[in-house]
Amino acid sequence: MPTETIIIVGSGPAGLTAALYTARANLNPLVISGNQLGGQISITSEVENYPGFPEGITGPELVELMRKQAERFGAKLLIDEVTEVDFTQGAPFQLKTFGYTYEADAVILALGASPKRLGIPGEETLIGRGVSFCATCDGFFFRDKDVIVVGGGDSALEEGLFLTRFAKRVRVVHRRDELRAGEALKQRALANEKIEFIWDTVLEEIVGNGKVEAVKARNVKSGETFQLETDGVFIFIGHDPNSELFKGQLEMDERGYLITDDRMMTSVPGVFAAGEIQDSVYRQVTTSVGQGAAAGMMAERWLESTT
Ligand code: NAP
Repeated sequence: MPTETIIIVGSGPAGLTAALYTARANLNPLVISGNQLGGQISITSEVENYPGFPEGITGPELVELMRKQAERFGAKLLIDEVTEVDFTQGAPFQLKTFGYTYEADAVILALGASPKRLGIPGEETLIGRGVSFCATCDGFFFRDKDVIVVGGGDSALEEGLFLTRFAKRVRVVHRRDELRAGEALKQRALANEKIEFIWDTVLEEIVGNGKVEAVKARNVKSGETFQLETDGVFIFIGHDPNSELFKGQLEMDERGYLITDDRMMTSVPGVFAAGEIQDSVYRQVTTSVGQGAAAGMMAERWLESTT
């Protein structure tokens, strides 16, 4: 069984920063990528609020730089997914992937979060057929088409703005009459001629035979129901932490966020967590990077104290 000093699960900004710090501490970390190399940022169009890039940088470029920097100091990247863990016996911890079972003296969990679903008819069946959770991935297919964006937060507006590069019209359907998004994005979206807002409205069904054709919607104030013809539905209503694997082994809150102490340690000594799997508040690239650095430093200290 391959034995590692430290395994980092997840290859987004938190995981790659933890890798950078533990690699520079000569711990020779193994990063197990997860099913999305680079995490959510790898499918984000533009990152405008990561310091050091005054003109902004694309998500894939940023994560590629982070990967290179971690590898330069000896981090190893394995493209695989962790399918099972056993943290119950303490260190060394066992982690199974599709290929192998590994042992590690310390673990940093940086699996991030996944887009939330609306949970309405048509949503699952029409994914990839007009229903999408990623404008960067799928926007191109909607050139001169009509799309609906669901949500009123930063993601909905940022991705909605990105979609105006392709679509002829972007209708943002929001369940309230006030946006949650920050001021800068709000102003840009409200000023964009291709974007329309449909307030106080929720989707009840996505309709289509093989591809999206329309949505059934309801105004939550008047109760009125109506149908909107459209070619695509982009859903940006938040995220759920990717913590399913750890249920029953690590403490988490009622929404599934891993609970960590002020040293990024989970309820099992030697298992640390960083980024959106444990942070429901900030959820920025900058904060995930900071948490990854902290987890890397604390894991190093913990390893030192146990040997
Ligand atoms: P969010 O801030 O949680 O916003 C989710 C939006 O979806 C809210 O407007 C919410 O409505 C709506 N919503 C939630 N559940 C819904 C449901 N079942 N049906 C209909 N609407 C629903 O999530 P986010 O936009 O993904 O942003 C997450 C974090 O990342 C935030 O901290 C954000 O600032 C950050 N972020 C930042 C940037 C940037 O700075 N450029 C870009 C993207 C994301 P209510 O408003 O009524 O709750």
